[in-house]
Amino acid sequence: MRKIVLVEDNPLNRAVIQDIFEFDEIDAELVTVESGEEALVAARTIQPILMLMDVRLPGIDGLEATQRIKNDRETSSIEVWAITANAMKGDAQKALDAGCSEYITKPINSNDLAKKLRGFLAGRDTCEV
Ligand code: MN
Repeated sequence: MRKIVLVEDNPLNRAVIQDIFEFDEIDAELVTVESGEEALVAARTIQPILMLMDVRLPGIDGLEATQRIKNDRETSSIEVWAITANAMKGDAQKALDAGCSEYITKPINSNDLAKKLRGFLAGRDTCEV
């Protein structure tokens, strides 16, 4: 099964996204890690098709982790969507600059994110052999 990695240090936000995968029929397995360091390991070992990357993380933050994933030939094809706080207006642009292709704003709207994920996965179905 296709895998999506969530990188999020906040347990409440983790629960919101885990619920989407549990109840909204997302055709992918969610793996959750809690730090940028773990994200780098997960990118290499799990080879997910998508990473949902919180920007504000202790240690290596989400922007730094994204840059490293995008600069590593083994992981550069992984799509990364940033999770940014609505109040932090500059974060969204910084996330795109770091190599994220989308951003999701907190507080997370479950319906919107579920729709976006289904659209992404449906697009991947037609692209893959
Ligand atoms: Mn955070």
